[in-house]
Amino acid sequence: MLRSSVNNKQSCPIPKKVRFSNPLLMCVNNDRKISYVCINCGAEIEELHKKYSSSVLKIMSCETCKQVADKYIEFEPIIILIDLVLLSQPAFRHVMYNTKFKIYAKILVVQLLFESYYVWIDAPKPFDVGEFASEKEFYFSFLLTSLDYILLVLMLQLWTKATNGSSHDLSTIHFVKAMTLAKVAKFFMIPLVIWSSNASDSASLRLLLVNGYYFLSVTQVLSILTNSSRRSSAFMTLVTIIVKHIVIVELNQRLRNVVMI
Ligand SMILES: [Zn+2]
Repeated sequence: MLRSSVNNKQSCPIPKKVRFSNPLLMCVNNDRKISYVCINCGAEIEELHKKYSSSVLKIMSCETCKQVADKYIEFEPIIILIDLVLLSQPAFRHVMYNTKFKIYAKILVVQLLFESYYVWIDAPKPFDVGEFASEKEFYFSFLLTSLDYILLVLMLQLWTKATNGSSHDLSTIHFVKAMTLAKVAKFFMIPLVIWSSNASDSASLRLLLVNGYYFLSVTQVLSILTNSSRRSSAFMTLVTIIVKHIVIVELNQRLRNVVMI
């Protein structure tokens, strides 16, 4: 069924001849995009479909790659979700550019709480720890998890600005949304929480697989956001994650001495 989100096309005040190649850089007043992209090649398109009558719709094709610009406007959400799980770049482009997906903040809060919970239960605890101290440890885990996410967003944004001139206008909110979408991969940690007590010997392997999947997810989303190749995005993601991890380990000790007194 064709979704109503694609029916509210508005005209862009920027003349077409001066539009940027990255759709996130176009018409970004109030952080609202009013243009679409081809999910196959990323080229800008005027509209996803044309309505000839109440019962006749034509799905538009991309002039650059000659394929259907966005096949997902006819797909059920569950199909799109499956393709997102499979890390399909067209599916990510569809969600990021061609829909009015607005629940990034809710997803981010749930992700941070869940990841904090995993860090909290995984951390070694002394036997005589009280209930209040244990609860405080959870809040500390949430603080560290939030700092970890903020560092990821800021480092990727700074690196992108330093290496890609066309991305100067990509604001922090664009990176927050993109990384939130990539961070959905962390929900695969749920089986770790459920099964870790039964088979702790393989928990580290499962955690490695989840983190590997998360790395690929960030790479795909970053590649779309910055119009860069997967190889350069993978390198940028890998270095960012390593540096971020070193910073968080250092912050963990320093903050613990200040906060957990
Ligand atoms: Zn195309």
